[in-house]
Amino acid sequence: MATTLDIARDNPNAQTIVASPQPIKVMSEDKPPLIGLSREELAEAMALVDVPEKQRRMRASQLWHWLYVRGVSDFSHMTNVAKDLRARLDEVFSIARPEMVDEQISVDGTRKWLFRFPARGAGRPVEVETVYIPEEGRGTLCVSSQVGCTLTCTFCHTGTQKMVRNLTSEEILAQVLMARDRLGDFPDATTPQGAIVPSEGRMVTNIVMMGMGEPLYNFENVKKALLIASDGDGLSLSKRRITLSTSGVVPEIFRTGDEIGCMLAISLHAVRDEDRDILVPINKKWPIKELLDACRNYPGLSNAKRITFEYVMLKDINDSNQDALELVRLLKGIPAKINLIPFNPWPGSQYACSDWERIEEFADIVNRAGYASPIRTPRGRDIFAACGQLKSASERMRKKDRDAATAAGTAA
Ligand code: SAH
Ligand code: SF4
Repeated sequence: MATTLDIARDNPNAQTIVASPQPIKVMSEDKPPLIGLSREELAEAMALVDVPEKQRRMRASQLWHWLYVRGVSDFSHMTNVAKDLRARLDEVFSIARPEMVDEQISVDGTRKWLFRFPARGAGRPVEVETVYIPEEGRGTLCVSSQVGCTLTCTFCHTGTQKMVRNLTSEEILAQVLMARDRLGDFPDATTPQGAIVPSEGRMVTNIVMMGMGEPLYNFENVKKALLIASDGDGLSLSKRRITLSTSGVVPEIFRTGDEIGCMLAISLHAVRDEDRDILVPINKKWPIKELLDACRNYPGLSNAKRITFEYVMLKDINDSNQDALELVRLLKGIPAKINLIPFNPWPGSQYACSDWERIEEFADIVNRAGYASPIRTPRGRDIFAACGQLKSASERMRKKDRDAATAAGTAA
């Protein structure tokens, strides 16, 4: 199960792992999951274990609390549910966790997990990467929405992996539950009085849908998972602390604000269509103008709720002063933050990261125009957890390649 790669052997952060205080049940069987069902679906599911109609909503609320506030992965811990109902639930449904195939910890404290979900129905098992980034006063979980990606952004490692499939709402949420298990964010389920970790004391305070895959090509499952993650009687993450990043699936942008209500990030990366067509090929379908029009209409957009525009800094490709000026011109009138991301190299990538002075000059122009433009510090490069470096274990990198890429990352 849990292994820590050699990279973390001399790593002081490796000592800080807090494993879950509760025994974790790992998925193995082919039983349908209860994780990821909406409250209504959960209540309906109670019919399958013969709960009388009148009690179904009450049972669903009880289960919701156990699953998302207490984080249990075994029905036997649900002490206020009658024993025979627990046994019946266990016969019919699963609330178990995926297997943790790997856990790596960067020298900067970033953690990357590889989770394996068993085959359900006719499918094959899949492996998914999730990254945790601790920062001063907050901890951000970078969650995957697909295994691989159908899109082929030329600077992104995930884009070189074939799309395997969309993740289900259960699999998206399970990444959050597993991270909270590993980081000690759930109370001890074996003692019913185990104190619930208060929101301010939690390790996972923010979620970004910036792992593998294009979340808006898996809209329904992402929506379901995020609505559960933000449910006030459950995981209770504020929608202000959940950000969905898209490469620009224009027809789903309005719905993202309207039906999910989370924060939006756009992978812009270029200011002219001829450049963006190459870097982010979905641009050929929905060019910059259409994308920015959709942004202007994003529900709830205001100075207090801005859109983040992500811009990867690629040497001699998109990093000139003219590019910065054009970026400012394009975003005029949109409440925006600009996030400059130093390019993270991977083996075989055809780009280099812009020089530091170039990035700073670019940032200055954007700042002078009145936009906050933090330069995103690359995190977890040594364990290949930085933006755009994820690629699932179905095509896992050999150690030799990883070392080469780490060297390239350090040089950049
Ligand atoms: N598919 C979605 C979300 C996942 S990518 C999207 O494209 O928005 C999360 C962010 O990392 C995106 O802004 C993406 O463009 C950026 N990214 C991809 N590869 C990168 C790399 N090699 N270096 C830096 N950022 C990268
Ligand atoms: Fe897919 Fe996003 Fe990578 Fe583009 S940047 S290939 S959309 S994961």
